[in-house]
Amino acid sequence: MRSEACVLIVCSLILFTGCKPAATTPDAKPASVETTDKGETIQYVETESGRWRVHDMDRPAPDVVTPGAEPCLAPSDAIVLFDGTDLSQWQPTKWVIRNGYMESVRGAGYIRTKDSFGSCQLHVEFATPENVQGNSQGRGNSGVFLQDEYEIQVLDSYDNATYPDGQCAALYGRAVPLVNVCRKPGQWQSYDIIFHRPVFEGDKVVKKATFTVLQNGVLVQDHVVLQGGTQWNGPHAVSDYKPHEDKRPIALQDHGNPVRYRNIWIRELKD
Ligand code: MG
Repeated sequence: MRSEACVLIVCSLILFTGCKPAATTPDAKPASVETTDKGETIQYVETESGRWRVHDMDRPAPDVVTPGAEPCLAPSDAIVLFDGTDLSQWQPTKWVIRNGYMESVRGAGYIRTKDSFGSCQLHVEFATPENVQGNSQGRGNSGVFLQDEYEIQVLDSYDNATYPDGQCAALYGRAVPLVNVCRKPGQWQSYDIIFHRPVFEGDKVVKKATFTVLQNGVLVQDHVVLQGGTQWNGPHAVSDYKPHEDKRPIALQDHGNPVRYRNIWIRELKD
């Protein structure tokens, strides 16, 4: 009953966001770019809380919220990408399977789906290491990449300060989550992601990507228009859009920390 209600909420959210004439909360748009004497690129963004560098430690962090409900099970029309038993839907890798989950292995690289996807609803469950090591970006770092390109950060952000545009549930380097609703290290968490892909004509993006994300059932990204790429491009810079195919794989990041994933399913959406 709980999972049915959860699916209903997410489906309602898709209908709701699909009816919006325009996004209401665009991510922070790069307002200016400066180059230091050492040739380092620094991007600045104008936000409601002021003007900040990309990856600025002094940017205000979101409020902390304690999550409630358990994660969702796959609805009948979903494509199950990982049910905890095998990696047949994924490109061969050294990631390991144990007790119903897969776990990243340091140095093994990203794991990618064999199939490619465009706009979609994606459910992913993850757990950062219970044995807490490192800090900031070095603690429980992984990531869910839509179209092998656009990262929703996975990080242990439970009592772990980092730059807010790189904390858990951030659209990396682009959009700070609305709240910090992370569970404790080692506990299972969920993302429900509604993604509309970017559209390109030649070298130009003519329709930017949008993200709506729920973490542990709580809205953390509200129909955000992604202004460019999310690849780390220096201490205070991120990448721009680069044209690519309409459909590309889902990828999970190996960032050197043993992060676990389970119950991954996807529903394809119209653009
Ligand atoms: Mg990451």
